[in-house]
Amino acid sequence: MSFDTWVMEYEALIRLSMFAGVFLLMASWELLAPCRQLTVSKSQRWFNNLSLVVVNTVLLRLLFPTAAIGVALFATEQGWGLFNNFVWPLWLAVLLSVVIMDLVIYLQHVMVHAVPLLWRLHRVHHADMDYDVTTGARFHPIEIILSLLIKFAIILLLGPPLVAVVIFEVVLNAMAMFNHGNVSLPVGLDRLLRLLLVTPDMHRVHHSVEDDETNSNFGFNLSCWDRLFGTYRAQPRKGHQDMVIGIRTFRETRQCVSLPGMLAMPFTGGVQGYAINRRSWDKPGEN
Ligand SMILES: [Zn+2]
Ligand SMILES: [Zn+2]
Repeated sequence: MSFDTWVMEYEALIRLSMFAGVFLLMASWELLAPCRQLTVSKSQRWFNNLSLVVVNTVLLRLLFPTAAIGVALFATEQGWGLFNNFVWPLWLAVLLSVVIMDLVIYLQHVMVHAVPLLWRLHRVHHADMDYDVTTGARFHPIEIILSLLIKFAIILLLGPPLVAVVIFEVVLNAMAMFNHGNVSLPVGLDRLLRLLLVTPDMHRVHHSVEDDETNSNFGFNLSCWDRLFGTYRAQPRKGHQDMVIGIRTFRETRQCVSLPGMLAMPFTGGVQGYAINRRSWDKPGEN
């Protein structure tokens, strides 16, 4: 069995076991040393946030059974994309593919904050009034589909090795659970890790109700994109304990916590909480 066939065969199992492993690790960490107290009961949050994950998983399996890996295989067979048209050492093709896909995810995240129609979808992620491992997987199904279509387009343009796509999917999923964790690393370790990766304290700033804080730290994996594009902010002004999480105008449990409320959120009201404005960009990060 070739390596690519093995990857294709076990892709779903690899992803599921990584998800379960990292989820368990983060959930235990949150239980032993939570960073903040939750405002809504954990059982209520988890039931609803994880129900949304189930809805998304079933929907994606039905709509796109072959997922990103199937598109990568198609690009390879057709000889489409940058990496299928030149000879690259495998390690370099994998490294570049993962880094480029991460940049695209960063740019996509800036876009869903900047375009009012897309903010309607993305605000489901931000309307969570608490911040924990389940927030990392809390996205509206239409935003998940949009993300996947953008990913398909990038895969067709890049023609990345299959293994790069699996690595990216697994790492993005694991990092989303890690950096949404209701945990804090020791200050020194956080600073060190942040030189390369997004940490829980770094991404938590992005979930603040304050416009300028929401409009910073868009990265999910590599921390370099925020520094490079000028959207990096080191800490929330009020500190991690006192900062308010969520969207100022969405504070009702019925809407922000319950599954039907989350599914209906893009179609209700105006673009309250639409965050990008001039003022946001006038205050650069502290360092
Ligand atoms: Zn966001
Ligand atoms: Zn987030």
